[in-house]
Amino acid sequence: MKRSVEEIAHRQAIATVCRRLGERGLVAGQDGNASARAGRDRILITPAGYSKVDVTPGELVVLRLDGTKVSGANAASSEVAVHLRAYARRPDVRAVVHAHPPTATGFALAGQSLPERALTEVGVLLGPVPLVPYGVPGTTQLADRFEPFWTGHDAFLMANHGALTLGPDLRVAHQRMETLEHAARVVATARGLGHLQELEPDQLRTLRATRARRDAK
Ligand SMILES: [Zn+2]
Repeated sequence: MKRSVEEIAHRQAIATVCRRLGERGLVAGQDGNASARAGRDRILITPAGYSKVDVTPGELVVLRLDGTKVSGANAASSEVAVHLRAYARRPDVRAVVHAHPPTATGFALAGQSLPERALTEVGVLLGPVPLVPYGVPGTTQLADRFEPFWTGHDAFLMANHGALTLGPDLRVAHQRMETLEHAARVVATARGLGHLQELEPDQLRTLRATRARRDAK
């Protein structure tokens, strides 16, 4: 089947994001997965079992939004249920990134969400980051755990597991994953120094308004 220009661009973008996730230490080995909407009712998603640094554009899997495979020699990522649920619940979402960023995942292991009031980047770029309760990886149970949180959130910590970010395109979803890990590192450093100076409520309101304006563009 001939690939559209859009699909070719999406394939390249997913492979690039996977490589960056690996190079920047947000995944190790086979960890993580990424997907993007490709047309009205299809997504492109990373294959199961590949080291993300090695994924090439031709190895991605094309699925319908109900999960049936359209094309691809490999099985889809084991976390496909979470990706499909994100697209089903959030029509505005066109890309999903899942990774195991070490410091952000440390928060998830400690049973802590990332405080939105801690850092300007979190307020502007991420918004509130909830801690999604534990679900068995690779199952629909894990997708079910996200149900109370889809609305109003674009970044999630996953208890005892990792993180998930959404975006209107792959670039933004990937940026959010990098921002999440960076913010987690900064917050952990501040706590190590003994004090976390939180933003005042009116300062946070201003940041939220900035985010709302960016999202509306
Ligand atoms: Zn994972």
